[in-house]
Amino acid sequence: MQPNSLIGLEVRSVAVNVVRMGLAAVLLLFLVVSVTDGSTSKESVNVVASAEAGDRDKVSASAIGHALADPSREGIVCAVRHDEIKTICQSWKRELVPASAGEYLTVVSPREPVPKSFRPNNLVSVTSKDLPVQKSIELNREASDSLIRMAKLINSHKRPNGASCRLVAVSGYRSPSYQSALFERKVNSILNANPRLSKAEAQKQAAKVVAPPYESEHALGTTVDFTTGSQISKGGDILTNDIGNTEEYALMMKEAWRFGWVNSLMPGKEHLTGRMTEQWHWRYVGAPHAEIMWSKGWVPEEYRDYMREQQSIAFRSSTGDLYWVHYDNAARRVLASVIVDRDSIASVEQEPGR
Ligand SMILES: [Zn+2]
Repeated sequence: MQPNSLIGLEVRSVAVNVVRMGLAAVLLLFLVVSVTDGSTSKESVNVVASAEAGDRDKVSASAIGHALADPSREGIVCAVRHDEIKTICQSWKRELVPASAGEYLTVVSPREPVPKSFRPNNLVSVTSKDLPVQKSIELNREASDSLIRMAKLINSHKRPNGASCRLVAVSGYRSPSYQSALFERKVNSILNANPRLSKAEAQKQAAKVVAPPYESEHALGTTVDFTTGSQISKGGDILTNDIGNTEEYALMMKEAWRFGWVNSLMPGKEHLTGRMTEQWHWRYVGAPHAEIMWSKGWVPEEYRDYMREQQSIAFRSSTGDLYWVHYDNAARRVLASVIVDRDSIASVEQEPGR
């Protein structure tokens, strides 16, 4: 190779580097400052998150604050570290206040059973004229309150044939001993039908249909199985994926997130949940988690895994509230805080009788 060609190569590689640096700077600026359609992709969050620490510090204070202040940016806005959100809140004279409790997001599955010592808090008996029940059920108080409000909305609608919608709660909190009894009953019915099966094989088959104790989300006190008036009147098994064809289910798929509820065993997620699809099985996760999961079509496992990877993000809800959501590595759960006006907290604190 001639010396001239070497010099040419060197000049070209310097030029290429300059162009690359320019492109990188433009890309970073675009991602941080541009207005999106509200569906900021995971990739763009990743790019902002993985920007060089030095560059990021320079853009953080103003550009992330600018992005978070833009009311047109709904959904996941970008990755935001704790120190960054604290700085932004200080400059805005705002406070970070815990949103709904993190235990509502505990992942429970065959791969991740709840600890044997786990007992849910604040269980209440769910009673309301707005929520028909098959038999009395118990739920966490916050989940119960939101369920009653959701049922009131769903049951105020009409089905296409003119009849009223009738969403019915069938099962809520299940203690380990009750879940164990349900599981054993399934094992025995399988053994009765196939006497040659080993007990271990019968248990394996049963676990596909009924969760063994500690592997059911019903242990959390925030999970409910639903049926509908039309399914009950048909007779037979009232907990089937036939609910997916009902008006009540269509309404829940559209509205339940507003009340903090998600279908955690939705179709197409069997490889993630380790359980079969159960369109009748819903759980309360609260705000803003239900809206994030609903907008992304995520089950709890996907949301938890996403947050574990991202660590912390800012999220603007459809009602305009701005949340800082982070994964607590020590407690291994997703927590959320809402960013509120200091003056509004002061006025609530001073309100008499609260
Ligand atoms: Zn269930």
